[in-house]
Amino acid sequence: MWTFLLVSFLELASGQDWCYQTQVSCSNTCLGPDQWGRSFPQCNGRSQSPVNIVTRKVLPDQRLAPFHFLGYRHAFHGNLSNNGHTVQLDLPGGIQIKGGNLSTTYTALQLHFHWGKDGGPGSEHTIDGELYPMEMHIVHIKEGYESLSQAASDPEGLAVLGIFFQESNSANKKLEPLLKALSRIPRPSNKTIVHGISLQMFLPPHDHLRDYYRYHGSLTTPDCAQSVVWTVLENTVPLSRQQLSAFSQLRFSDGRPMANTFRSVQPLNARRVYRSGGSMAASPTPAVVLSSVLLLYYYL
Ligand SMILES: [Zn+2]
Repeated sequence: MWTFLLVSFLELASGQDWCYQTQVSCSNTCLGPDQWGRSFPQCNGRSQSPVNIVTRKVLPDQRLAPFHFLGYRHAFHGNLSNNGHTVQLDLPGGIQIKGGNLSTTYTALQLHFHWGKDGGPGSEHTIDGELYPMEMHIVHIKEGYESLSQAASDPEGLAVLGIFFQESNSANKKLEPLLKALSRIPRPSNKTIVHGISLQMFLPPHDHLRDYYRYHGSLTTPDCAQSVVWTVLENTVPLSRQQLSAFSQLRFSDGRPMANTFRSVQPLNARRVYRSGGSMAASPTPAVVLSSVLLLYYYL
């Protein structure tokens, strides 16, 4: 709450709302990403998100076990809104994740998207410098906290699941209810209800959820709080070009198409990115090979 009040005060004091680079123009006085730190000092911190994930530098970590997804299959009616920066789906209570080397259970609050223009590059995290056309963030808060701002004061207060969308030849029918609803919320503050959806519909198949990257970072929008345990799934969700383009029909408050709603990658600084799976897939160690040989010798 205090963070929210402080943010509101700072916005009032500066008279400027934050915006993405694509909105910065002579006529628009909003704060572009290079200026966010002026009103939101944490945006200049050393553990910011998103980051570029360099796959040959990630460290395998056996502790990054598969997640338990609780309530992800439950169908619900969700509030979908155009909040002026993105499209956001508010989630009902009881949807949680645990495992995945998280210290406790985290409860899902909302999900939202970052995308490009008409299906062009638009993800926030990048893999070896490549952008995907879209990225979804499912924002969870640590059990015991009641709001995003409360959790933001804890370095591990939030667990965000990042999921990439990749262009496919055929449409992804599971996402049709959400995509149809976009036409009902063209302007900021427009809201609608999406019926009969579940979080499972937004995820890759269950077998493809065990491979992921992990690092500590921040929210990718102001106030950029450095309180996020990031999990970026390796596997992607397919969406046709036409479906990806549907997001560009939304509008920013200045009336221009809502597109390129992503922050560029931030320096990793002293951080490391870890990958699930550990050494299980790696070649056996010399000690294992030696003991196997000795065992074979014993039985022969
Ligand atoms: Zn996000």
